[in-house]
Amino acid sequence: MSHPKTYAEWQTMAESVKANLETRAFIDDAFVDAVSGDTFETTNPATGEVLAKVASCDAADADKAVAVARRAFNSGEWSRMAPGARKKVLLKLADLMQQHRDELALLDTLDMGKPIGSSLGDMAGAIGTIRHQAESIDKVYGEVAPTGEEALALVLREPLGVVASIVPWNFPLMMTAWKIAPALAAGNSVILKPSEKSPLSALRLAQLAKEAGIPSGVFQVLPGFGHTVGKALALSMDVNCLAFTGSTGVGKQLMQYAGQSNLKRVYLECGGKSPNIVFADCKNLDKVAQHAAEAIFHNQGEVCIAGSRLLVENSVRETFVDKVLAAAENMQPGDPLDPNSFMGAIVDRSQYERILDYIRKGVEEGAQLRTGGKSLEGPGLFICPTVFDGVTDKMAIGREEIFGPVLSVFGFDREEEAIALANDSDYGLAAGLWSQDIDRIMRVTRRLESGQVFVNNWAGGDQTVPFGGVKQSGNGRDKSHHSLEEYSELKSVWISLGSA
Ligand code: NAD
Repeated sequence: MSHPKTYAEWQTMAESVKANLETRAFIDDAFVDAVSGDTFETTNPATGEVLAKVASCDAADADKAVAVARRAFNSGEWSRMAPGARKKVLLKLADLMQQHRDELALLDTLDMGKPIGSSLGDMAGAIGTIRHQAESIDKVYGEVAPTGEEALALVLREPLGVVASIVPWNFPLMMTAWKIAPALAAGNSVILKPSEKSPLSALRLAQLAKEAGIPSGVFQVLPGFGHTVGKALALSMDVNCLAFTGSTGVGKQLMQYAGQSNLKRVYLECGGKSPNIVFADCKNLDKVAQHAAEAIFHNQGEVCIAGSRLLVENSVRETFVDKVLAAAENMQPGDPLDPNSFMGAIVDRSQYERILDYIRKGVEEGAQLRTGGKSLEGPGLFICPTVFDGVTDKMAIGREEIFGPVLSVFGFDREEEAIALANDSDYGLAAGLWSQDIDRIMRVTRRLESGQVFVNNWAGGDQTVPFGGVKQSGNGRDKSHHSLEEYSELKSVWISLGSA
């Protein structure tokens, strides 16, 4: 096994990776320029360096790719291939990703600013998802329905057809894997639209997919903007399913596009403003405070399930917040290529300005700024871990998704009050609670309006449990056999016996 790379080794490797970037769209098994010939720049937010000019696809490319995907689907080469054979190809893809793990991790780090250690964690998640879904697909059985002997009734699972996956930039390759693994395993043709802020790892993945033997037209990648190529895919009359991860605002638009076009299925994984509830009965508040800080500052706070609302029982609030501040002190941003950096750079200038705007609003609205609230000198886009205490549910920083390293602390006195505060949100993606009292844990867990609840941890889970939200956090589920089910249709077959 190779030793973990040093800072200097990552810097050296970054130079060679930058010299060999694939920047064209991947359509019908070939890397091609956008039909318009247009490109857009992708930039390293830690340095301001333009990494590449990438093909900027639009509706013409979307039409081309959809026609190719449909042809591939109808050919049956992948869609009717025995599940066990599809499994082998996907496992080969996972092996290739493992072989090129460091390079894929570097692409995400360079493209969107996350620390390399965190990108390596994402690669384990991405590869794990491909393996899990590949291993699952030849263990899915259809049903024989209970009938009298005059009939045989079957319930079959069949792939949907053409799936368009539209993904965000915060975990570029991991979000991609969560979408494409079950969709491909189920036999669909998949068109991936990566975020315009982080297109590079998806294009490298296309190279590996080809090498793994995924047939022509079954997996295609269209880099470009949401309002151009993303919208065209969403409005297409020949896409059967939109699998989306991104903001709630765009999720709502996609539902409209589906209604305006062909009623395609729409699975949404959207935003959050997740409550993390700390009860005073915890034995080890130091440990809980460390987790509470990691829950918001991991990935610079650019995490859909960031624990951005910290609800602390007032009897321990003062001491607890001091402990969170001490933990935050050790999480200052640094060069994403340094394996010791906990936080990296903010993805781009618009996101950076948006976060600083929220910090200004927090101060204006009367919350108490306990630490951070500032950025580091450029050219890189770095914001220090920021903690506001005394936040209320009337403040913008208490309600809206900031998607940056900004923690809002609320106090509460009673369990009922904590539950009411936690549920007072348009979102329902994740919630955490920390307590030693099992009765309380189960009482509160059942009442939290949330797709997932973390008890005495934050972000716990593996490939076996679904990931997704309720309310305006969306309706889809990534990971586990539940995501596999989303990418297939049920077909009921009633066979009359003895009548022909
Ligand atoms: P975004 O909604 O701006 O963009 C997401 C994707 O949608 C991008 O590829 C973008 O190009 C595309 N898009 C934008 N407008 C479009 C349109 N009109 N038609 C079609 N496609 C369009 O989100 P973002 O800034 O990339 O990501 C951050 C958001 O993602 C946050 O709200 C975060 O909570 C959410 N997120 C959710 C999860 C989850 O699992 N629930 C995971 C990660 C991120």
